[in-house]
Formats: sequence, C-alpha cells, structure tokens
Amino acid sequence: MPTTRTDAERLDAEDVLAGFRERFALPPGLIYLDGNSLGPLPTSVAPAVHETIHRQWREDLVRSWVDWMELPTRVGDRIGALLGVGPGQVAVGDSTSVQLFNTLIGAARLRPGRQVLLTDPRHFPTDRYMAESAARLLGLRVVEVPAGEAAGWLARNGRDVAVAAYPVVDYRTGELWDIAGITAAAHDAGAVVLWDVCHGVGVLPLELARHDVDLAVGCTYKYLSGGPGSPAFVYAAERHHQALDLPLAGWLGHVTPFATGGPYLPAAGIARAVVGTPAILSLVALDAALDVYRDVAVEQLRDKSLSLTAFFIRCVDELPDEPAFEVVTPRAAERRGGHVSLRHEHAYGMIRALMPQGVVADSRPPDLLRFGFHPLYVSHQDVRESVERLWRVAETKQYTDPRFARTSAYG
Ligand SMILES: *Cc1c(COP(=O)(O)O)cnc(C)c1O
Repeated sequence: MPTTRTDAERLDAEDVLAGFRERFALPPGLIYLDGNSLGPLPTSVAPAVHETIHRQWREDLVRSWVDWMELPTRVGDRIGALLGVGPGQVAVGDSTSVQLFNTLIGAARLRPGRQVLLTDPRHFPTDRYMAESAARLLGLRVVEVPAGEAAGWLARNGRDVAVAAYPVVDYRTGELWDIAGITAAAHDAGAVVLWDVCHGVGVLPLELARHDVDLAVGCTYKYLSGGPGSPAFVYAAERHHQALDLPLAGWLGHVTPFATGGPYLPAAGIARAVVGTPAILSLVALDAALDVYRDVAVEQLRDKSLSLTAFFIRCVDELPDEPAFEVVTPRAAERRGGHVSLRHEHAYGMIRALMPQGVVADSRPPDLLRFGFHPLYVSHQDVRESVERLWRVAETKQYTDPRFARTSAYG
C-alpha cells in the first residue's frame, strides 16, 4: 500500500470528529472494527449507572419510579433525533426480536383484509422468523422479495401487501437499501412499511419523517453503544398512533396502568408501545451512552463513515492480487452502509487470527469478513493499519493455525 500512509495521516488531520474518540473507554492500542455488533463502552456510562444504583436504587428506592417511568419515552426522543423524527414517536424497551413481533402484527392490523407480509429473503434471521410467526398467527402469507427488487415488485404486485418489512442495511453485505423508494412504492400499493434500522441508527441519516416511514424498530447495542443486551426501540409515526393495535398489551401501555378491572385501553401516543416494567439499569446506561452523540450531526457521522469505508476499500484494492479479497459491499457511496464486507473462503480463520494482531472485526458464514467503521472512534490510520495486518495474516496463512479453528457457534 504505497500511497496510503500519508493519505491516512492527512485525512485524520482534517477529521473534525477526531476528538470524539476520547468519549470511549477503548482498550489502548486496540483497533475496534466491530462496533456494528457490540459498541464499545462510552466513558459517560459507568458514572451514570453508579449514580442510579447508589442514589436512586439504594437510597430513594421505590420513589425513583417517578423518574424511571419516563425513561422509555425520554430516551426514545433522543433516539428519535438520530432517526430524523420529532418527539413523542419512539419508545425504548424489550429486545429487537420482541419489538419486531409486536410491530409486525401492529402493522398488519393497520391494513386489515390484506394477505401478504412482504420481506427480504436475506433479512436477519430473527426478522424472518418473526415475520413467519406473525403471518401464521394472523393467517397471512409471507412473500420474500429481495430489497433490491422490492420497489418494482410492489408496483406490479403490491395490491394485497399489508406490510413491507425490510432492513435499511444488509447485515452481511453492508448494502444500504433505498428507504425512500421502497417506502414510496409500499405506500402507492396501499401498504405500510416497517424498517429494521439496526445497522443504520447512529451511523447514517435515516430521515424517517422525511421519507414518510410508518414504523421502524432497531437495537441500541450496535453503533449506539448502549451496552450488551441494551433495550431496543420502536418508532411509530404519529398519524398511526390512534389506530396502532399492538398485540403485546401490557399494563404499562394502558391508559391507566393501575386500573383495576376493565378491558385493555391503550395509552395515547407512543406510550402504548411500552409493554411492562422497563430494564432501568440498561436504560440508564443507554441514556448516558447517547451523550456521545450530543455535539455531532448525523450528516457529519455519514461524511466520516463514508470516508472511512471508501478508504478501506481503496486500501484493499491496493493489496497484491493473491490472496484475493472480493469487496462485497457496493462501491457507490449512496449504496453503502456503515460496514464493509470482504469475501474470502478462510474468512473465519482470518478474523480469528486478526485478534492477536490487535484488530477486532467479525465474520459471517460462509465466507464474509465484516468490518464496521464507527465514525466517532475509528481513524483512517486504524483503517490502513487493519488492512496491513489483514494482509499479513493472509500472506503468512496464519489463519490455518488450529488455534483459529471454529470452536463455538457464537464466534
Ligand atoms: C442485530 C440485529 C437484530 C438483533 O435482534 P435482538 O433481538 O436484539 O437479538 C435483529 N435484526 C437485525 C437486522 C439486526 O441487525
């Protein structure tokens, strides 16, 4: 990679977000390229959780619920700002999987009489399983059409579609899909859209309000660094609140949670999407993690993210032809999310072998190496360094070492 060292230095010198790295408690020397799977610890988190434990839980005890009850929607508003939507339309809680189930059914109930739940055959496993289950429960039919063909398919065959459920970014290839186009095509067909924004929130502008998106769900432990298992969120556009009939009718989504007797009456607004007692410690951690995003605009995140991913692709292009890596992620900026995937038959062993070299990324079977570039703590020099170390691992065939053989279904 002859030309890239000075380029990396120059790009980092021009980087207006360089100072944000200090907001993360990253182990020194580690190049962390897996923030799209588990974001690193922001320095703001531990003091906030400590305070909640020692003052609110230990001293104030049950009286703290006055404050805690507001957290799902208060933190929701902060996430809403990253989604490009106004306040009062995002609630935080439960896992992405649970939110998907609740929201898929709620979405289908907005379009009674329609028979099709449209989704992506390459959607994340839990999204597909939940779509199947929701369809079985409601007597609907799942139709799988790849995101790249969804808009055209909807225009031709969309009359019976109740819900179109798609990922904003393909979790394997890093391809960014056409949020505006698919949403518009779904609306023209009379359907509602449910976007899974797990791999988009915190790294690119989603502009859900501008695109007239109906519903969205996403997780907070990836780019948002909310911590392992931090709660997911649901967005429902205000125009749907009145009609939104969610199947998980929990007491905290009731208009009067302490009502005794009587039927379920959903609260007004997004509060109806709160199911049961929120996981307060996790919510507090997430709330504090979001402080990282205080002084940065999503457009700045996107600019830096694109600069990092473009630079990574360029560094990979400069590698010798053997061993050859195929860049799977689209090269066009407007079709690229926040991570880049390379194809190589020894993907798994290579990623494992990179770890002792101080680079953490991940692999996805059968043959993808996945590199996530968080614009707030990854530098262009990190990018360059990681490609150089990858090449070393590949060239020396370190990945064939039995230490790097597959030992766990989670690795
Ligand atoms: C990460 C991710 C999930 C995770 O679901 P959990 O319930 O949080 O385990 C779901 N869908 C997509 C698209 C994801 O990227």
